[in-house]
Amino acid sequence: MSEKQITIVGLGSMGQTLASLYIAQGYQVTVWNRSPGKAEALVARGARLARSAAEAVRASPVVLMCVYDYRAADAILALDGVATAMDGRLLVQLTTGSPQDARDAEAWAHRHGARYLEGAIQAAPDQMGQPDTPILMSGAEPVFRTAEPMLRVLGGGIVYLGDKAAAAAAMDLATLSTVYGTLIGFLHGARVAEHEGFDVAAYGRIVAGIMPTFAGFLQHEAEVIQSGDFAISQSPMRISVEATQRILDTAQQAGINTEFPAFAAGLLKRADGAGLGGEEFAALIKLLRR
Ligand code: NAP
Repeated sequence: MSEKQITIVGLGSMGQTLASLYIAQGYQVTVWNRSPGKAEALVARGARLARSAAEAVRASPVVLMCVYDYRAADAILALDGVATAMDGRLLVQLTTGSPQDARDAEAWAHRHGARYLEGAIQAAPDQMGQPDTPILMSGAEPVFRTAEPMLRVLGGGIVYLGDKAAAAAAMDLATLSTVYGTLIGFLHGARVAEHEGFDVAAYGRIVAGIMPTFAGFLQHEAEVIQSGDFAISQSPMRISVEATQRILDTAQQAGINTEFPAFAAGLLKRADGAGLGGEEFAALIKLLRR
């Protein structure tokens, strides 16, 4: 069994990038995609296009799947001969999904005699293959350690999260929650800036400048939650109760959209009402746990 054989199932923008990276590293790459036309450029560079998904799975000891979502992944795994062909293979599922999707996919793989790893890619296609490309991985440790050199072709920033297959999907959702929370707040800030006649690009640069400090603050708040000691250490919750109320009041006076500040101020006001105002900001989690 050659160590440099891999099958890539799914040739969307991410799957094509993954296949390219393995071709560039001298792997024998077999590809399959629902629409075979997307394989043309890869075939021109030496990839082999399988005639069916089952043939693609049989071609290599490692099958790396990266399709739109788990409905697409399940549809492919249900194709003729795929389950049988999976016996003895390693299925690396890089399709983004939920923790339950990952648990179900791992159970499916084990039922069909395959080993399983779950991955969550946290980068865009043109950021893949870099020394710091972030990819979360989970699944049985011996399986991960064996596959690690092959997975490192995709990026050097692989973080292994342990035996539970669902961990990568769960941590992906957790980090995405931070991303979307920040993005929505950022866009409300852009509305404040443009309403006040400021250069929004300058606002973007100022935000970028505070990000390293903000990242340090997030880490501190996570440590507070983990420790369970919510005594004020950096940022009293009451300051944020007032700040979010001020953002809301200002939006109302300016006549700009109030959805984000109304949500944030509402949550902080409830936390204050629940007696958490005199604790560290992270104590808000006590409200979220209810
Ligand atoms: P994409 O360009 O939209 O490609 C989607 C892929 O899924 C194509 O191969 C498509 O096949 C296939 N597909 C969709 N529905 C299908 C079905 N019912 N049956 C069989 N195949 C089906 O998506 P992508 O950007 O490559 O993303 C792939 C995965 O990577 C997603 O889970 C995404 O969340 C994750 N990801 C992407 C990025 C990114 O920036 N692109 C970043 C991080 C993670 P056809 O070609 O036949 O339509």
